[in-house]
Amino acid sequence: MLRFFLEVSAHLQSPLTWLFFVLGAMMGSFYNVCIYRIPRKIFFAEARSVCPNCGQPIPFWHNIPILSWLLLRGKARCCGARISAQYLFVEVFTALIFPTIYWLFPFVISWDTGLVIDSPEMIRCFHALTFTSLLLICSVIDFEHQIIPDVLSLPMILATPLVVYLHPDLDWKSALIGVLVGGGSLYTVAWLYFVVRKKYGLGMGDMKLLAAIGGWLGYQSILTTIFWGSILGSFIGLGVIIVRRKMDLDTKLPFGPFLSLAAVGYLLFGHYLAEYLITF
Ligand SMILES: [Zn+2]
Repeated sequence: MLRFFLEVSAHLQSPLTWLFFVLGAMMGSFYNVCIYRIPRKIFFAEARSVCPNCGQPIPFWHNIPILSWLLLRGKARCCGARISAQYLFVEVFTALIFPTIYWLFPFVISWDTGLVIDSPEMIRCFHALTFTSLLLICSVIDFEHQIIPDVLSLPMILATPLVVYLHPDLDWKSALIGVLVGGGSLYTVAWLYFVVRKKYGLGMGDMKLLAAIGGWLGYQSILTTIFWGSILGSFIGLGVIIVRRKMDLDTKLPFGPFLSLAAVGYLLFGHYLAEYLITF
């Protein structure tokens, strides 16, 4: 535990950690634009950000990640409309996860006397950043609209060969089996659910998402992802039922965010958890 705190404090002193913090906050701001525009199919509609309520252009000094939301206390300056805390959540999440991912894959060996980079580690780092970012965007959209857009999940599946080609640890066989097992296993669960309950419980979106996860992380990730995704989903679903104080079997809870959380947990902390479980 002490070693952990020493490591954290060492990382907090590195300017690279803060660089990734700022980069994460800025990317989070961009992901918010994606989350708003992709399901509304207006991604390329206009280049400038406008207020979703009154349509007025937002000046860039009201668009500073995290700070603007806090300074304006979640209200739009133009018309006073409430700005969802979701925007803040996404920016804070990326601002924290980016330096965490760099911490797990520290690819800069030295940089004061000329930049020395560990290339395989850099690929692992960017793979984790891209994977986490795409799943975050999918999750928030799924949470809000109960869909996982094909424009995100299908290109992720199609990018599998590129990911395998670039990634130092992923091999063809586990990625290909990952896509098939990922898509197939959820298809089986959806089919069983349909047979038992006579309606669709799991969307095809979840299936494509899990196929993408299998492709990017290998088939070894699938069982863990489904297992922890279901456990997280059940606990949080139970929490929702208790808070709302009614038992409703049709309570709609998207599965995508829980699958994503489990998959990102597997990618980032899988080693640590495995070691931890072995030592006990
Ligand atoms: Zn407005």
